[in-house]
Amino acid sequence: MEKILNYIDGKLLEPTTGKYLDNINPAIGEVYSNIPDSSAADVELAVKAAEKAKAEWGKMPIEDRSEMLLKIANLIDAHLEALAKAESIDNGKPISLARTVDIPRASANFRFYAKAIINQSTKAHITADKGINYTVREPLGIAGCISPWNLPLYLFTWKIAPALASGNCVVAKPSEVTPMTAYLLSKICIEAGLPAGVLNIVHGLGQQVGEAIVAHPNIPAISFTGGTATGKKIATIAAPMFKKLSLELGGKNPNIIFDDCDFEEALATTLRSSFANQGQICLCGSRIYVQRGTYDKFLTAFVEKVKVMQVGDPLEEETKAGAVVSEQHQEKILHYISLARLEGGKVVAGGNAYNPKGRCKNGYFVQPTVITGLDESCRTNQEEIFGPVVTVQPFDTEEEAIGLANSTKYGLSATVWTQNLKRAHKVGAALKAGIVWVNCWLVRDLRTPFGGVKQSGVGREGGDEALNFFTEEKNICIKHC
Ligand code: NDP
Repeated sequence: MEKILNYIDGKLLEPTTGKYLDNINPAIGEVYSNIPDSSAADVELAVKAAEKAKAEWGKMPIEDRSEMLLKIANLIDAHLEALAKAESIDNGKPISLARTVDIPRASANFRFYAKAIINQSTKAHITADKGINYTVREPLGIAGCISPWNLPLYLFTWKIAPALASGNCVVAKPSEVTPMTAYLLSKICIEAGLPAGVLNIVHGLGQQVGEAIVAHPNIPAISFTGGTATGKKIATIAAPMFKKLSLELGGKNPNIIFDDCDFEEALATTLRSSFANQGQICLCGSRIYVQRGTYDKFLTAFVEKVKVMQVGDPLEEETKAGAVVSEQHQEKILHYISLARLEGGKVVAGGNAYNPKGRCKNGYFVQPTVITGLDESCRTNQEEIFGPVVTVQPFDTEEEAIGLANSTKYGLSATVWTQNLKRAHKVGAALKAGIVWVNCWLVRDLRTPFGGVKQSGVGREGGDEALNFFTEEKNICIKHC
């Protein structure tokens, strides 16, 4: 059985504990590799390696740093098929999704930041006849990056690439639930010739490895993506140490469909935004609000399409919905469907676990599920389920739709479907969300700031925001001669 190893000081290492955890393929329900069950001692080794490497990496000409990141991007492209297969097996997601979205986006992250760092500028202010103030940005030294299981390589590299580009060494932890692509990335970094200690990847549990990274006094910045409860815990440890913190957390995203929408487009995209990656994308819409004049027509067409969605073996090319990430997560999703029934909801599509025939018969699958008849105050509509479960509810006016959409503690993203430009601007401005898509979904430009409001997080990733996050700004004022 394959043994995943830590990547520390340029080498692939066993954990100091000598202990390993099981890595389960969720589509078949079987252990297929082992993951280091690392401890704070491994994090310490990683920090030491980063400390050794940081001066040289930080002062390397940016063109050389950029070249190195481009090399990694090119190698990710060269290994696309192997990475896509690994991600599909690790995560349960359809291989077509891993091949067309997750892995290309991982190389795009490295390529984007390799170029962005070359084009970054700082400010200067001329103060009349007195002097000149100019700003310099310096790397923080060592950055801690912690990422979740839903888009394993995509989100891991979304943090690592800007941290490295801006001259930091990194100690990173992928989710222990989906560690394989991070392990393959460490092999790619070795192949690219990344200097030892610049990137260190420590595998293991959040409470051991993750907390050791967050609490380490020599790691001044933490970039975290994951659940809101974990984000709170991290903030509690990091805030008294005055660390820089970027927290990208959970969501419960509304999808508002007005009578004046382009119906076919709204229907097709809402299917995708509800069930892509089995609903396990933080930006998936899980609360669909449809204006009363379109409600019946939409619900009928939506349910019809959901019922024929191809759920099954993630390695089959035509599969549209694969397994959810783990048995525990399957149980959580099914628990929420039971809760929805208890709360008075009517399950109009799906609602159960699913066992495909053949090699996936023991895998962790959930039927794409649509629930109606619930109001916004119930737990089903307030808590993040993070699976293939959506609720559909009618509304009458713009004000009502805005109220419903803003009724949770989350504020990550929202989607609005209307052909009325005035309405698009008005509703877009009134929604409490970090990103609002109008007549589209998941259209991303890596230059735009990304992040949530309310309990969906603090800080912004993407573009210059990420480069700024991983650096500290200093002003120098020189008197005119
Ligand atoms: P978790 O919060 O459980 O875990 C995220 C990462 O943090 C994992 O690597 C985890 O390790 C680690 N971790 C867990 N506990 C601690 C701790 N005490 N200290 C430090 N690190 C810790 O999230 P999930 O992996 O379950 O991911 C799903 C969540 O992520 C959802 O809520 C989703 O909305 C959110 N998310 C948000 C995004 C955004 O951009 N806002 C994007 C994608 C997902 P381990 O796996 O070992 O527990």
